[in-house]
Amino acid sequence: MKKVVVFCGSSSGFNSVYKEAAIDLGKTFVKNNITMVYGGGKIGLMGVLANTILAKKGNVIGVIPKLLEHEEVVNREVTELIITKKMSERKVIMSKLIDGYITLPGGFGTLDELFEALTLGQLHIEQKPIGILNVNGFFDYMLKQLEVMVQEGFLKPQNRELVLVDTTVEGLIKQMQNYKAPEKMHVIDKVVR
Ligand code: AMP
Repeated sequence: MKKVVVFCGSSSGFNSVYKEAAIDLGKTFVKNNITMVYGGGKIGLMGVLANTILAKKGNVIGVIPKLLEHEEVVNREVTELIITKKMSERKVIMSKLIDGYITLPGGFGTLDELFEALTLGQLHIEQKPIGILNVNGFFDYMLKQLEVMVQEGFLKPQNRELVLVDTTVEGLIKQMQNYKAPEKMHVIDKVVR
């Protein structure tokens, strides 16, 4: 993997373990020469992650919609800053740039981005690995919800497998590097985004 997008909170969370995980991930990106693509902010875990990579001379591409480009929020120190007209355009640009997704703890914005990536995977529009770093059991309830969705017949078991989960950065990167996208189960003629 050469470029990976990270979705994570524009807040840092109350427990310092979340910041530590973002720092760990940032250092691993630099060590493995992976460019980080992200939302372009300088606040919360997003800021911690970007600053960790930039301080170690790694590469960071920020993709931020015009409406969020407020001076207080946008990180102008990034290697490359792409400003999009709309939130939806940002997601398309991000997904075209990268070969994998990682989600760290976050709020609505983070989960919105994660589930959009999963939906693209489920429709076979994309075949990229989608990893979740389950720091401090943060995603346990969400993962339980996925099991309920399978049990109740709303999520196909093979689509549940699109979510790669690990509690360590190293383990997650390994899973993503070894990822093989599932075979197409049914044909969707043509889905236009
Ligand atoms: P949230 O999880 O609700 O804190 O939202 C964080 C996610 O939404 C990030 O992955 C970003 O891509 C996007 N986002 C939310 N707020 C901002 C912001 N102020 N600047 C840049 N991106 C943001």
